[in-house]
Amino acid sequence: MSVRRRLVIGNWKMNGSKAENQQLLSDLVKLQNAAAVNEAAELAVCAPFPYLQQVADILKDSVIGWGGQDASEHAKGAYTGEVSVGMLAEFGCAWAIVGHSERRAYHGESSDVVARKAAAAIAGGITPVVCVGETQAEREAGNTLQVISSQLEPVLALGAGAVRKMVLAYEPVWAIGTGLTASPEQAQEVHAHIRSLLAQAGAPEQRVLYGGSVKAANAASLFAKEDIDGALVGGASLVATDFQGIANA
Ligand code: PEP
Repeated sequence: MSVRRRLVIGNWKMNGSKAENQQLLSDLVKLQNAAAVNEAAELAVCAPFPYLQQVADILKDSVIGWGGQDASEHAKGAYTGEVSVGMLAEFGCAWAIVGHSERRAYHGESSDVVARKAAAAIAGGITPVVCVGETQAEREAGNTLQVISSQLEPVLALGAGAVRKMVLAYEPVWAIGTGLTASPEQAQEVHAHIRSLLAQAGAPEQRVLYGGSVKAANAASLFAKEDIDGALVGGASLVATDFQGIANA
């Protein structure tokens, strides 16, 4: 019987405004207080950088954590537009998503860069949520497990001590924001593969989240699979009742 605590993290992406965040977060806090599911599941939201202070102010007395959607591999210096782990920590972030497929696709982030970001996060006391996932074409070519292995290779090469401070997220690119969800069986196959790689790396009990059009309606069947420890949620994390519905699942 696994002792891995469930984890549901919202990824707001580039959405929100001060007014919308205020409404969403205060609704979430109210729902959390009413639901009292927080013993079972750990919750967090990853907001755009400019809103981290607002998020911290609203969530500081709640059980909901928060984090950034990326973090620089560098500590400081001439890296225009980047945000360091130290800066995230100053705003109380416990989490940083690294290697999201949108960063890999639109910002050319390689798996080596993602591994360095994960290492920087750990060094700064923040838990990286390291995302991996195959494209539709890679899946159709039968390459899913090889793609996942190669994306994880530099990350797992950081060593057991580092890997034990990470959360991984399997996010098939074809399921992100598309309304398509991997079936629980498709997801479990990849999660089991990731679990075996984690075991080889000396960290078999790290949590592995699923992400890709998770909704309240499909969360329970995904979470029923033995190697799925929670979810990284995009679109549905922008609606308090939807996000809470996933947490309840
Ligand atoms: C994501 O951005 O990590 C994600 C899983 O998005 P969505 O839930 O909208 O597919």
